Amino acid sequence: MREYESTLFVVATPIGNMEDITFRAVRILSEVDAIAAEDTRITKRLLDQYNISTPLTRYHDHNKEQVTPELIARLHGGESLAIVSDAGTPGISDPAFYLVREAIRNDIQCIPVPGPSAGISALIVSGLPTDRWVFEGFLPKKKGRHTRLLELSGEERTIVIYEAKYRLLKTLRDLGEYLGEERQVTVGRELTKKFEEMVRGTCNNVIEYYSNNTIKGEFVIVVEGNR
Ligand code: SAM
Repeated sequence: MREYESTLFVVATPIGNMEDITFRAVRILSEVDAIAAEDTRITKRLLDQYNISTPLTRYHDHNKEQVTPELIARLHGGESLAIVSDAGTPGISDPAFYLVREAIRNDIQCIPVPGPSAGISALIVSGLPTDRWVFEGFLPKKKGRHTRLLELSGEERTIVIYEAKYRLLKTLRDLGEYLGEERQVTVGRELTKKFEEMVRGTCNNVIEYYSNNTIKGEFVIVVEGNR
């Protein structure tokens, strides 16, 4: 029996290891009328693994403004929808935030179905303090980068940053310059996947490691606060 009507479920999916999905997520994804997904090919692989045949609809940064009103209309019409991202928790550094905000503005009920997120996964094995921390997502690439790094130099809480492989070394070098080369850093790579790796040390140690090793996969940088 269907649990809810006119509801948007925000459903976390694995960040790599396909087993990292909750029983509830599998059930909700099976029961909703449609699933809005960033990359339908990636989500299709997950659905196939769990024998879920719910229709998929594309929802990404380039079509979100156009597609959102259609999804809101479907929700108003009584359908239940789920939104998922390519990996992890929707809305954390991905376009789901936009749909959730519009749904709330339109009095649509939004229900979280929690699960993995890359930042929290890296944080909890970083060895750095977890009592107070901040999520920075991706640092600005150019405009605003200097200001953001300056702000972070005084940040006392542990800092969690997402970074693409192409900019990993640049960001580590910038963190060394602004926050100090001796600052403790943990880089989590390919979390929950076959080539999962945690590299811990001073900023300089980690820069040295990645200067001498191929940089492949997905990365989270966790940085000690200025304590
Ligand atoms: N919504 C996702 C979450 O909850 O973590 C994050 C989406 S964001 C567009 C993608 C970034 O998350 C990647 O560039 C990388 O920094 C990080 N990421 C995702 N999966 C990862 C993994 N398995 N290992 C390390 N970092 C990962």
